[in-house]
Amino acid sequence: MHSENSSESADEPPSQPLLNSLKEFHSAGRGFWADVPGSDWEDWRWQLKHRITTVEQLQRLMPTLTPEEFAGATLANNKLALAITPYFFNLIDPADENCPIRWQVIPRVEETHTAAWEMADPCGEDSHSPVPGLVHRYPDRVLLLVTDRCASYCRYCTRSRLVSNASGYDFHPQFDKQLEYIRNTSAIRDVLLSGGDPLLFSDEKLEHLLSELRAIPHLEFLRIGTRIPIFLPQRITEKFCAMLKKYHPLFISIHSNHPRELTTEARDALGRLADAGIPLGNQSVLLRNVNDDATVTKAHMQKLLMCRVRPYYLYQCDLIAGSSHLRSSVRTGLEIMEQLRGHTTGYGVPQYVIDAPGGGGKVPVNPDYVLSRDNGRVVIRNYEGKIFEYPEAEDGTPLVDAPKEIEEPELV
Ligand code: SF4
Repeated sequence: MHSENSSESADEPPSQPLLNSLKEFHSAGRGFWADVPGSDWEDWRWQLKHRITTVEQLQRLMPTLTPEEFAGATLANNKLALAITPYFFNLIDPADENCPIRWQVIPRVEETHTAAWEMADPCGEDSHSPVPGLVHRYPDRVLLLVTDRCASYCRYCTRSRLVSNASGYDFHPQFDKQLEYIRNTSAIRDVLLSGGDPLLFSDEKLEHLLSELRAIPHLEFLRIGTRIPIFLPQRITEKFCAMLKKYHPLFISIHSNHPRELTTEARDALGRLADAGIPLGNQSVLLRNVNDDATVTKAHMQKLLMCRVRPYYLYQCDLIAGSSHLRSSVRTGLEIMEQLRGHTTGYGVPQYVIDAPGGGGKVPVNPDYVLSRDNGRVVIRNYEGKIFEYPEAEDGTPLVDAPKEIEEPELV
């Protein structure tokens, strides 16, 4: 039996105090909205109605806006709309220009610069779309884009061509055609509802869609991709969870990028979803100035587990137009993965992937742990850099003879 803890060091690394502080749970608080009745603040529709959507509102609430942010916010509504819920706005540190929350939702002028290799549709979704709003890239599953609205808009959004409709994409999903395609394609066993954010639908509208899908015999399970528990945890009511519970097996992938997003409010909302029996995974995007740091990522992954969420994917930032200022390198991503594997619970290690530019699908990228495969053995290294070998014949069968002693290679 494998033991996961046998080689843990009792010594505390120097980053431990930072790690511990990042893992503390805090409420987002009421901030500028201290006078608003609690019943309004807790109402998700109130939060949506009072989003910050203009440069004037932003400047009034945050006089520390930098010139880059001011210019970005002025231009934003021509490309990807500016919108931030009051709840999420309270997580921004106005005194810190490098606040990781700030970089995710406050537009910057760099968004208007497009590098030669950047694209409007980096994952090639439009070219795999047999019906508007349905992406069929892999044989047995489809992505159903059900709305172009989100509670807040992420400045690096892969679907910024269509979400918020600021750039005139004119997205109009046709549910009848989407459902008909799924009914008529028996190879589809898994449907992922995304957008935009499906959890912005009313309970009734989402239930209608889920019940139509659940009635299709060849669908084995349903998934929803959402950032609502992070941007708008008030939306995750007990009533809503009771509705979702009727459509199992149903999985939810949330999207969170930094441990500070995991507030007491988000933790409670995620707890309600988990109590409804919904397996929860997290997808995060590697972002410069946000989470391209091993300690931050480790704290984030461990905190997700405390919220009953299994880290699922860590994405290399897609080559979306105007995202260079937020993109970190693959080298950094691999270094972070190296600091996770073996250094924390296996459940807390996401799969690092690159969505192949132009539409090749997700490609896993991992640090190299297999050093060689020849001479009747596979030579591997562990998370500490120690070398081991696993005997195996050229044809893949186990070896009978004792393997030759190997020397500690110098390459690690
Ligand atoms: S919540 Fe998702 S779809 Fe909406 S802006 Fe953010 S990344 Fe894009």
